Amino acid sequence: MSHMIYPTTNFAATETMNIARGDGIYVYDNHGKQYLEGMSGLWCASLGYNNAELIEAATRQMETLSFAHMFSGKTHDVGMQLADTLTAMVPVDDARVFFGSSGSDANDTQIKLLRYYFAAIGKPEKRKIIARERSYHGVTVAAACLTGLPINQANFDLPIDALGILRTDAPHYLRGKQDGESESQFVDRITANLEALILSEGPETIAAFIAEPITGASGVIVPPADYYEKVQAILNKYDILFWADEVITGFGRTGNDFGSTTMGIKPDMMSFAKQLSSAYVPISASVIRGDMYAAMIDPCSKLGVFGHGYTYSAHPLACAVALKTLEIYERDNVFAKAAATGTYLQTRLREFNDHPLVGEVRGTGMIAAIELVANKETGEAFKDGKVGYFAANACQEHGLISRPVAGSSLALCPPLITTATQIDEIIEKMGKALDDTL
Ligand code: PLP
Repeated sequence: MSHMIYPTTNFAATETMNIARGDGIYVYDNHGKQYLEGMSGLWCASLGYNNAELIEAATRQMETLSFAHMFSGKTHDVGMQLADTLTAMVPVDDARVFFGSSGSDANDTQIKLLRYYFAAIGKPEKRKIIARERSYHGVTVAAACLTGLPINQANFDLPIDALGILRTDAPHYLRGKQDGESESQFVDRITANLEALILSEGPETIAAFIAEPITGASGVIVPPADYYEKVQAILNKYDILFWADEVITGFGRTGNDFGSTTMGIKPDMMSFAKQLSSAYVPISASVIRGDMYAAMIDPCSKLGVFGHGYTYSAHPLACAVALKTLEIYERDNVFAKAAATGTYLQTRLREFNDHPLVGEVRGTGMIAAIELVANKETGEAFKDGKVGYFAANACQEHGLISRPVAGSSLALCPPLITTATQIDEIIEKMGKALDDTL
């Protein structure tokens, strides 16, 4: 064992895999064994590994300008270009963009932007944020308060109440439905719960509702078709902002440019990271509506500067690689191709609906999960929640990297450049792994 303290790891665990290099959609361990990277690393390496153009963009930027900060009005071209390119892409009106280095810090930034914005428009009491059960928004102290997974909150004494974080239902019909409840009755009930929460807290105290359009770490939950329409109507009624956390779903992952597009959401704010640079370098973006930005300009002389920024906000290397990533997405029609491959992936994965271990196959585009159940007839879940780990290990044996999520599900999130033939390879390896897990 090295002296590393590993992230999200049991301290007693031993090192299980040492990845030495990557090429295309494959990685190789230190013994030379090949794995198809069915998770794009951690839902991020959209263009795969060893992309010559991204390497060249990084090298050129480091030779030209390896660092410049953005505090107090300093700027650089590559940062401004990236902001403008993003503004032209995202479904947020006249978007303004703040850069950071991770999905977690992007969400922290959004909390501060919200606080500042509502102070600026004279509504400082509008500060609470509604987040969902079974959501993942990161692990910094503030982002972990938004996250709705016990593992990321236990043992840390997080200031969830102090930050004004409220919790509402996860939109997962399989696990959330009551006896005899149809899918539309389920949506009516959980959206009624949302409205009741807003009314009991007071709409004038609630700033925003945060959601991953389709969740990742909590099990790839794709909400029922009319869920977001109903949520958005409630938020509009009470003047509450829709904050889409697109750290996973951004940039072609769900069969469209953004998860918000796929799910019919019109967001006021969006958070990005991961596929923004195809994970070649860390970078995140917090996006808000242009009129929100405009409303903060004049009050700034009274409130004082927006006292929030990272040394690495708009790091030139990260901006250059992100710009090149976005250029490749556009030039090579990556999102449309991934949508077609994603349709094929979803079709093939549903062949596992007949497998005795499989309770639900869910997903859209190039993101999916297979929920493994103890009893196929009743859908009863495994008690100890370890089956996902066994199945993921079995996949690994067969040369496929997947990921256990929410204990009993196995996630897939292959690079957007994966071909149909490589999808067949995923299905073949996963089929063998599921049989081994039986
Ligand atoms: N938000 C979502 C939806 C995520 O899936 C993640 C990470 O997986 C984060 C935020 C946190 O991002 P990071 O790990 O870069 O801090």
